[in-house]
Amino acid sequence: MKRWWVEIVLSAIVLIGASVQIFVLNSDSSKFSSTSSSVSTVLSEIRTLFCFDPAVPALESSTVAMGCPEGTQSLGADPVPSHPEEAATLDSILAIRFAAAKAIANSEGISLQLTSGLRSKTVQARLFADEVKKLGSEQEAIKWVLPPDISHHPQGTAIDVNYNFDRPSTKWLEINGYKFGLCRAYANEWWHFEALTSPGKKCPPMKINASVDVAQYESSTP
Ligand SMILES: [Zn+2]
Repeated sequence: MKRWWVEIVLSAIVLIGASVQIFVLNSDSSKFSSTSSSVSTVLSEIRTLFCFDPAVPALESSTVAMGCPEGTQSLGADPVPSHPEEAATLDSILAIRFAAAKAIANSEGISLQLTSGLRSKTVQARLFADEVKKLGSEQEAIKWVLPPDISHHPQGTAIDVNYNFDRPSTKWLEINGYKFGLCRAYANEWWHFEALTSPGKKCPPMKINASVDVAQYESSTP
């Protein structure tokens, strides 16, 4: 009985593979350099893309190939990665994702306020020094506040929501954030969110605290 199922599943996989190949071969051949890159291009283009319609407010689904309809804003199809550079503004995709979440939460009677987003490295250095003084050591401080070269706030890829007030409303974002590609990053910080997933996809597991980022930074820096 089991073998039948295996054969049916394998046949389905072969048929899908053949369909993709036929589709690729029928496409403009100059556009595709090889079958394998064409398949990944096709798969990438048919990925779901969520678009925020502020007039409703609601999310609409489209595909990467079709893009977002006029009057709506793309939430982007990928996670927003951290990077070492100091940013001049909050990452635009992160900003749109939070605006969408805030508007839809508001329509459900939930208030989400951005208490801190982009911070300069100068401000982050001061916050880190204050935390070291308060907790007595760098080892304790990095669990809560990261040094300016490691924190994602100066990179414009992190936001603090309802910091130090209204934790119950922020729980809404923790539960629903993945729909917008927003995830709570740390188990000890209920207010800190980043664009860690594709909208609609599950969030990665939370890190125990921010000191994990220091370990990652040190292992990736020569
Ligand atoms: Zn934060």
